[in-house]
Amino acid sequence: MTLTREDRLHELELLPVWTARKPKPGAANAEIAVEVVPASALPADVPGTMPEVSPPAVMQLDWQGLQQAVAVCQACSLAKTRTQTVFGVGDPDAEWLFVGEAPGAEEDRRGEPFVGQAGQLLDNMLAAINLKRGDNVYIANVLKCRPPGNRDPQGEEVIKCDPFLKRQVELIRPKLIIAMGRFAAQSLLNTEQSISALRGKLHDYHGVPVIVTYHPAYLLRNLMDKAKAWEDLCFARATMKQLQSAEPPLS
Ligand code: URA
Repeated sequence: MTLTREDRLHELELLPVWTARKPKPGAANAEIAVEVVPASALPADVPGTMPEVSPPAVMQLDWQGLQQAVAVCQACSLAKTRTQTVFGVGDPDAEWLFVGEAPGAEEDRRGEPFVGQAGQLLDNMLAAINLKRGDNVYIANVLKCRPPGNRDPQGEEVIKCDPFLKRQVELIRPKLIIAMGRFAAQSLLNTEQSISALRGKLHDYHGVPVIVTYHPAYLLRNLMDKAKAWEDLCFARATMKQLQSAEPPLS
């Protein structure tokens, strides 16, 4: 069977594509709406020419629309070097959201965050507090594309990618975010403070409590700090218990 271009785009979950609809001239409320773009309206089948979704429109997307918008994003130069975007993995209704920096080589290849050595340590850290990837846990990164050569993410890349994580948080509505590593912590909390200054406190990301800990890749190189990461996980577990018990009972 020969697949049409439209079939292939559906297979890849790149269709339908959502874009911002222009407000009607003179409309009192220029609220952003989204509309589905039929495959026939897409540009020719040239990599890098997919329509994009503007940052305000991202905040209107549902989960599937957001996945599609990330998959076709061309907002920064990382689009040229990535194998694929890495949206995130887990339960979209999770109470726990773990946020790392950016996909590495293995994540870029497989399309899933934290699948390399650091990911194994993250799974062990989750298990230590009776959590499991995908089970009431969602894992995402600040950047959805791999910086080439695993270089540090650049400011412009963070600015361009930020609406995606913000919308993920809005849709998941986690009870608690764990920011792993200096980069995730500083980006989420919009600060230049060090990890040691940020650990052990409850911070806030758009109304969601945030706890900061070390990045698993850092812990692989700095075994002595695993004890501190364990303290952070215990703090997170105790905080989650409080957040769960503070929840009003279902009527
Ligand atoms: N490091 C990260 O910050 N994220 C990943 O997905 C993998 C390694």
